[in-house]
Amino acid sequence: MTYWNPTNETQLRALVDAGNSALEIAKALGGISRNAIIGKCTRMGLTLKRSTGAAQATAASAARPRTPKQQAAKPPPRVVKLAPVPPPSPQRLTLEHLGRDQCKWPGAVQQDGQWTFCGAPQHDGYPYCTHHARIAYRPKEY
Ligand SMILES: [Zn+2]
Repeated sequence: MTYWNPTNETQLRALVDAGNSALEIAKALGGISRNAIIGKCTRMGLTLKRSTGAAQATAASAARPRTPKQQAAKPPPRVVKLAPVPPPSPQRLTLEHLGRDQCKWPGAVQQDGQWTFCGAPQHDGYPYCTHHARIAYRPKEY
């Protein structure tokens, strides 16, 4: 069921023409959100007045001069190069044999259809060993 009918569309048009903001119109009509008002106005081709709060915020930020800190160029991104870690010797454990603190990196599927997992000791709270954690959690490259 839609909120809109010819009666409240007429009210909406009158409130927009009177220069009310979407929030003011939503409060006046009741039972409808500010975003619904904005959407309906867009569909009807009506231009809403900007709310005074947003207009003041925009004016204030435009009038405020930028400090040198804000204008300074960002430092170049730090590139972290990690030493490669050799892969552990594969244990190929099935899920039922995989311990709580063993690497959960999936390996091959056995002939019986069961997945196997790395099974090496986990690295520092990660679900994977050091080798597989380096693959799974790469540092950001900019
Ligand atoms: Zn692993």
